[in-house]
Order: sequence, then C-alpha cells, then structure tokens
Amino acid sequence: MRWEELTGDRFVEAVKECEGVCLIALSVIERHGHHLALGTDMYEGRGMLERVAKQEPVILFPDYYFTQIPEARHLAGTISIDGDLMIRLLDNVCREIARNGLKKIVLVNTHGGNFGLTMFYNMLQLYQPKDYVVYLVQPFTFMEQVETPWPPEEDDHAGPGETSMMLALRPDLVHMEVLKDDGEGKALNRLQHLSEAHVQTGIWWYADHPTHYAGNAKYATAEAGEKILDAVATGIVKAVRAIKADTEAKRLQDAFFAASSQPGVGL
Ligand SMILES: [Zn+2]
Repeated sequence: MRWEELTGDRFVEAVKECEGVCLIALSVIERHGHHLALGTDMYEGRGMLERVAKQEPVILFPDYYFTQIPEARHLAGTISIDGDLMIRLLDNVCREIARNGLKKIVLVNTHGGNFGLTMFYNMLQLYQPKDYVVYLVQPFTFMEQVETPWPPEEDDHAGPGETSMMLALRPDLVHMEVLKDDGEGKALNRLQHLSEAHVQTGIWWYADHPTHYAGNAKYATAEAGEKILDAVATGIVKAVRAIKADTEAKRLQDAFFAASSQPGVGL
C-alpha cells in the first residue's frame, strides 16, 4: 500500500494490517550516464518496494530522494542537500512515520552512495529513547546473488544492472541508442597512488568516474532487469517477515536506554 494513495480512514486500518511496518526507499536524484534518467534510483526503489507490497502487507512511504550525493554537484540535475539537514530531515520523517502508528521503520537503501549515511543514521538511533525501531536493508546484497549475462566487473553505477532494471520498469526513460562502447565507464584511477596505500578521500568517486557512469550498460536487457527486481523483492520480503516477527530489537533498545541513563550500574 502506498501511503499517499490511502485515505485517512483507510490509513488507520492499514497500519494494523501491516503490523506497523513502513518501508522507505532512500534514493537520490543524480546523473546516471548519458542514457538513464536522473531519477533512476527513485524508480528502482519504487519498483522494488511495489513488488514487495504485492507479497507482504506493508505501507510504502512516498518517494524520498534527499540523501547523500555531494559527489555529483558538478553535474546537471543533481539535488544535493546539506549534510546536517539530510540527517535532520530523515530523522524528522522517521518520527512522523512513528507518530502515525508505524513503529517498525525499514530503510531500504537504493543508492550506492548512501552506505555511510545509512550506517551512521542507524547508530544515531542510540541517543534518544523512542517508541519505534529503525531497521536497515541494503538491497545490493540481494542483487549480487543474481546470475546475470554480463561480466560482474562491467556492472556498476548506471551499468547493465541498473539499466536492465530501468528497461523492465520504465523503458521509455532508457536511451540505449546514445550508449557508446568507448570505455567511458572504466575507472580513471586518478588516485590510484592513494588507494594502493589504502587511503581514501571524499573526491575518490570523481577521481574514478567524473561522468557518473561505471561499467558497460550495453549488456542490459529487460529480462535481466525483471530477474534482479524479483530477487531483490524476495530478499526484502524475507527481511520484512523477520522484522515483523522481531520483538528483541525494541526490548534491547529499551533496556539500553534504561541502562544508558545510569552508565555502569547493574553490570
Ligand atoms: Zn543508481
């Protein structure tokens, strides 16, 4: 069930039917090579979660795309929100979801650049007691298990995986005709001297992929896209079932907050 499609009356029943579970896809608006739409991650998130909702009662939060993307500020169409506001906004949204009775909030990360943000936001949950639990699911884990018709090293950002999903979801937004097999998707390795020494900087992605295209999308097919989306949905459905059955995370969270008000007592 999509949040924005429910009436106010129906929403109350839906919260019960979904056992208080709300899924929110964390996407972003950024360049995806020459051939894909800026909102690719948003459409992917929507497509994945709509497949989940067909198999398991859940409320899907409206499209959410104010996440981590300063690395694409040099490219047209990027929406890059300030870091502190990004965290405050996500936290405000989670509190609003919980205030509406959905006490199990599942962040589904559909943008590769969000690993750091989502892990950090998860840890921020430990500052204030709350009547809800934030769960985090990274669908990329499920994608890796799918057998696809391209060499794994040729699939990265806006590569055959994402392009295939978009061919399955919104073929009208995919421009295969502009793809050139000219090596643009290969990493430039301009900071190899640092990466070889296990050193990273914030400019690492720009150093490797300044046009936000990584891999070779020529292998993409709608069929592979369907397969990836189905596998991801299966993985998320399993995660949601585990979350619905879970009572431990909330119990431990409460115990932690009680203990953290008196550190060291009772150990
Ligand atoms: Zn993407």
